[in-house]
Amino acid sequence: TGKNDNKPTSPNPHTGLPPAVASGPRMNATFVTLARNNDVWEIARSIRQVEDRFNRKYNYDWVFLNDQPFDDTFKKVTSALTSGNTKYGVIPEEHWSFPDFINQTRAKNVREDMAARKIIYGDSVSYRHMCRYESGFFFRHPLMLDYEWYWRVEPSIELFCDINYDTFKYMADNNKKYSFVLSLYEYVETIPTLWDSVKGFMKEHPEHVVEGNSMQFLSDDGGNTYNHCHFWSNFEIGNLNWLRSPAYIDYFNKLDRDGGFFYERWGDAPVHSIAAGLMLKKEEIHFFNDIAYYHVPFTHCPTGEQTRLDLKCHCNPKENFDWNGYSCTSRYFELNSITKPEGYEKEQ
Ligand code: GDP
Ligand code: MN
Repeated sequence: TGKNDNKPTSPNPHTGLPPAVASGPRMNATFVTLARNNDVWEIARSIRQVEDRFNRKYNYDWVFLNDQPFDDTFKKVTSALTSGNTKYGVIPEEHWSFPDFINQTRAKNVREDMAARKIIYGDSVSYRHMCRYESGFFFRHPLMLDYEWYWRVEPSIELFCDINYDTFKYMADNNKKYSFVLSLYEYVETIPTLWDSVKGFMKEHPEHVVEGNSMQFLSDDGGNTYNHCHFWSNFEIGNLNWLRSPAYIDYFNKLDRDGGFFYERWGDAPVHSIAAGLMLKKEEIHFFNDIAYYHVPFTHCPTGEQTRLDLKCHCNPKENFDWNGYSCTSRYFELNSITKPEGYEKEQ
């Protein structure tokens, strides 16, 4: 098909949109969205922004995944908005259901208890399947096996600045495996024993914990306790081969067995972040200051006025979350001894 090899030269056959204007080779990469049929108008907004700011220049593919078959409206609307090829996948039931080792009564009691304590999504079964799927399975979906790189896009996000280079190629050229734009502290009620499970994993698989990792981002006491910092996973650009590696799979299987996706409400954000923090070298995690992003309720608006002007950004820098006390992004800068972008003090 050649889609991933080189710049397309003729209009996209299914949308009639003009070919990508950017020159040079394409990476083996795709956008990936998990969504329900009734998310169609919210994902339509996200797609339009991603296309306007980035993908109309590159025409990368877009994979849509759902636990139910996508309906015709969803397919029609989304494929009309995308410049690359679209693919629609149903999630196999064994990746979106309770594993047999989960005690249903215990899981139900937890949901009732969390509902009474008003913990966000605490009573939801589907949210738990979603978090487990994003933690351990999306990268193994048959449609994803063709790709090496992914960019996760959720409904109702915004992109506020032009992206004038190939972010996938940037990741590859600079040896990056995982990236983020926003970081914050997780609600401790949703993950009370996650770190115990992680410690169990580190003990069972010391060979997967790499030298020069980002433990300092995750823990203030050398790994004894978790400080709840995580990268917000509703935005991710990352390497699928890393997620499919024995190290990551051993990690996911250990966490899954411990049951916290159902006996607590472990989110895929801390699960991915802890994996990246322990199993990647710290230089392999990238912060995209120049990707301006919103997902309710937080905004990443690039620090540095010249950057915002050059990239034709339409975000309000006062809404930038990076240097707020609830963000963990400062820790990332300190750990990596990176100079903070010019003007950050003014935004604190
Ligand atoms: P939040 O960002 O944590 O509030 O959670 P979202 O509601 O945005 O869900 C995260 C992602 O999973 C989004 O891309 C949703 O479209 C998707 N999602 C959530 N629940 C389901 C579900 O039950 N089925 C499907 N197919 N997708 C879901
Ligand atoms: Mn969301």
